[in-house]
Amino acid sequence: MRKALVAANWKMYGSCEFVREYIEKLQFLVGGRDVEIALFPPFVYLAEVAGLIEGKFALGAQNLSQEVEGAFTGEVSAQMLVDVGCTHVLVGHSERRSLYGETNQLVASKFVAARQAGLKAVLCVGESLEQREAGKTLKVVEEQLQAVIEVAGLTDVAQGVIAYEPVWAIGTGRTASPEQAQDVHKAIREMLGAQGEETRILYGGSVKSDNASALFTQPDIDGGLVGGAALNVEEFAAICESAQAK
Ligand code: PEP
Repeated sequence: MRKALVAANWKMYGSCEFVREYIEKLQFLVGGRDVEIALFPPFVYLAEVAGLIEGKFALGAQNLSQEVEGAFTGEVSAQMLVDVGCTHVLVGHSERRSLYGETNQLVASKFVAARQAGLKAVLCVGESLEQREAGKTLKVVEEQLQAVIEVAGLTDVAQGVIAYEPVWAIGTGRTASPEQAQDVHKAIREMLGAQGEETRILYGGSVKSDNASALFTQPDIDGGLVGGAALNVEEFAAICESAQAK
């Protein structure tokens, strides 16, 4: 049985006041349903969020260094994330790939660094609009996945979390249809073989409370990675309520 996971990626938004109000409200709004909720605030708020969530939600960072430690000004290591209470980390988010030049090889190194420190990596994959229109969606996703499998091994990838996030749907208000998303999720699970049966595969890309249920009820969609809509705590709580175990 795969427990649903709904993750909030706050991107580079928030403040100390936002953090306190958000966590207080979220604790009040979500309850009862058997869903795991994970928060991914900016680095500087991680320790504060860790103190406020009291283990009720999982905590993750949006990025990490591939290095263990050293003279790498501005970087944050996997062990530092563990030290402040993180259990998860995003790896290969499309904004990191497109804006900061993260290649499949760098993403694989970051994935390994996360796993070695005991973090659960949420590996983000997804195609651009151009690639989808050229019929290359599955090829691109498979390349992104294989690059990590080659370095980290199939078992580690299957034991992590995968987020399928079509680039054309991130922050655009344009969501993949439940059928489009399901097709890619099913293909990803098949790429992982028998071990993929237990892998949670999240959908990300303009998830909102009014489209979450149709997406999350698809057989291979195990929850969501939510960006913009997760900045509104009521909206995020409503999305969490739509999640279902598979
Ligand atoms: C994301 O940042 O991972 C994301 C899916 O963003 P949005 O929900 O805003 O499309």
